[in-house]
Amino acid sequence: MKILVINCGSSSLKYQLFDMDNEEVLVKGLVERIGIDGSRLKQEKGEDEYIIEEDMKDHTEAVKHVFDAITDKENGVISDLSEIDAVGHRFVHGGEKITKSVVIDENVREAVKEYSKFAPLHNPANMMGLEACEKLLPNVKNVAVFDTAFHQSMPEENFLYGIDYKYYEDQAVRKYGFHGTSHDFITQKTAQVLEKDQKDLNMISCHLGNGSSICAIKEGKSFDTTMGLTPLEGLVMGTRSGDLDPTVVTFLMNEYGYDTKKMDNVLNKESGVLGVSGVSSDFRDLENAANDGNKRAEIALKMFANRAKRYIAGYMAEVGNVEAIVFTGGIGENSITMRESIMEGFEQFGIKIDPEKNNVRGGCHLVSTDDSKVKVFVIATNEELMIARDTKKLV
Ligand code: ADP
Repeated sequence: MKILVINCGSSSLKYQLFDMDNEEVLVKGLVERIGIDGSRLKQEKGEDEYIIEEDMKDHTEAVKHVFDAITDKENGVISDLSEIDAVGHRFVHGGEKITKSVVIDENVREAVKEYSKFAPLHNPANMMGLEACEKLLPNVKNVAVFDTAFHQSMPEENFLYGIDYKYYEDQAVRKYGFHGTSHDFITQKTAQVLEKDQKDLNMISCHLGNGSSICAIKEGKSFDTTMGLTPLEGLVMGTRSGDLDPTVVTFLMNEYGYDTKKMDNVLNKESGVLGVSGVSSDFRDLENAANDGNKRAEIALKMFANRAKRYIAGYMAEVGNVEAIVFTGGIGENSITMRESIMEGFEQFGIKIDPEKNNVRGGCHLVSTDDSKVKVFVIATNEELMIARDTKKLV
């Protein structure tokens, strides 16, 4: 069974074609600058690269080029589009209506439209990808896998904000959580590694990348998470502020005369470790700058580590009987020093990482000492595979 996974942003589209008989990626690619001058598709098949540089005015044209690339005689991997059995789409915000992956129907469309108010850049872009596939592959089933779905198991005491209940009732203002596909994948993988039934597993999943979130998992389900109504809450991120006193927002708007759009941009694009350091949002640059004595880069890294520490420790108390702490995402998988910084201080609770075992990137590794009270793992996430698996299950 061949499944195409599509992840559409407002001007980009990532894709992977899986052979689900052995979960092998046959081909993957990225389209950038959709609707902007200089559109470009880059496809990778093993070591080979195939590039198309041609204007693509919308997502339908981008999807058309993806189909051309994967069926290309020389650079493609299938001879005809009829070989695609289903398409799995990444969707961002399904609100309270979507609690699991679903075959697209009218209810899904309504939910995507309704919750676009909280994901104005993502949900409409995800929809454009879907509509392009429906147009060009009319006989193939489409499945939607939502970032928010995994977190719908959170109890009310963890998803409500400390504001008048009417805002939840009238406007659905609450914590939804994101990165659900990754946290779900990590939970399943950890259960498999520990040879446990997922429903008996309490753990902490730390997805640390450009966007970062931590998830407390109780009995195999999301119990609490750091991202909120939108992906802005929680950890200090590459360019997002994470938690702050809401008064900071109203104060800055008043002082600088910022409107909501500008303020949104400040918090999402100009803040986080980029804003604090003035150096970069990329942790490799920050680690280099800190090593060269840049004070603000050092502070930004410490802020990131401390915020993560606070959530991990808090979630351990919330969930109880935690068996594993797992690091994933670009930083979680690759930054040996950031994992060390985050876990520093947990020794007093009997949780220790082994510096030698921690000297790894990606893959699936136990990095804690033999006598550590909680096992610490590095596990590479794979959201695309998770989407392909759910799609296969549903069709
Ligand atoms: P996204 O959220 O866009 O999917 P990723 O999970 O790919 O992001 O994470 C990207 C981040 O991972 C980069 O910004 C960079 O900070 C970090 N990263 C990647 N490799 C390393 C490394 N070797 N050391 C430290 N940080 C790294």
